[in-house]
Amino acid sequence: MEIAAEKRIDGKQIRDHHLALLAQEVDLLKARGIEPALAVIIVGQDPASRVYVNNKKAACAKIGVRSAEYALPEETTTEELLALIDRLNADASINGILCQLPVPAHIDESAVLERISPAKDVDCFHPVNVGLLSVGKGNLMPCTPMGVMQMLKYEGVDPAGMHCVVLGRSNIVGKPMAMLLLAANATVTICHSRTKDLAAITRQADLLVAAVGKPKFVTADMVKDGAIVIDVGMDRDENGKLCGDVDFDAVAPKASLITPVPGGVGPMTITMLMRNTLAACKAQNGIKE
Ligand code: NAP
Repeated sequence: MEIAAEKRIDGKQIRDHHLALLAQEVDLLKARGIEPALAVIIVGQDPASRVYVNNKKAACAKIGVRSAEYALPEETTTEELLALIDRLNADASINGILCQLPVPAHIDESAVLERISPAKDVDCFHPVNVGLLSVGKGNLMPCTPMGVMQMLKYEGVDPAGMHCVVLGRSNIVGKPMAMLLLAANATVTICHSRTKDLAAITRQADLLVAAVGKPKFVTADMVKDGAIVIDVGMDRDENGKLCGDVDFDAVAPKASLITPVPGGVGPMTITMLMRNTLAACKAQNGIKE
């Protein structure tokens, strides 16, 4: 179905806008003799992880950030991975560290995420950064939720006073999304798998963010006329085709603004990873703005 272009939030256009601004920031840093650098750790041979890592390195290259890949074999132990993180934490030429998830099952994922220095935690997974976010003092921001906030800003949407309903309460998306909307003065409701009468709540939403991980879960009857619908989902439909958590064709006619999948929130996540890398670099070099 053809959806009016002005309703569709174009994540690629907003990504390009931000990457151009970030590239200018990199130029300014380099002019001061500072080369921002991101360490990317990947353990094992997971093909999806390889694609994500390549995309992250490509984004670095695009804006002039140096990326350093550490590809470790599947049988790497937790201790070996922690030792690498210790070395990268101590390396002043590295500003950001990310470890591509999931790590193999035998590795203690929490220990890994908590070992990354909060100052270099560009995924904003460290409990210190989660805490700083919740008290409104974060420098590094959760990438996907921050990407959503930047999309709203680009579209001129101010969530203040809106009833925002977040579907999903994961540590990566749902919870930090709710926190950022709250900080933006929205009234926020978080729903999850134990929520009763879900549709009655989602129908109250002025802004609905879906982060459920279930293809086309949000149907037209769950959405209020004129609502803004943000689809974080990256799912596969019955034919194996990439789709979101929202039944786009059915919901779009009711929405005032809506993100497609692909081409919506997805491109913003890596963009915010770049934003965090520069924020970490500036903080480590005592640069305030
Ligand atoms: P997750 O950790 O699996 O969390 C899913 C959340 O949805 C949970 O809080 C779960 O509730 C809730 N849920 C599941 N079934 C539900 C139901 N029937 N009714 C109401 N709530 C339900 O997933 P995630 O990591 O947040 O990711 C969500 C989606 O976003 C996935 O499709 C993922 O691929 C995508 N994603 C995209 C990006 C991007 O860059 N665009 C980044 C991250 C994730 P409980 O807590 O009660 O189990």
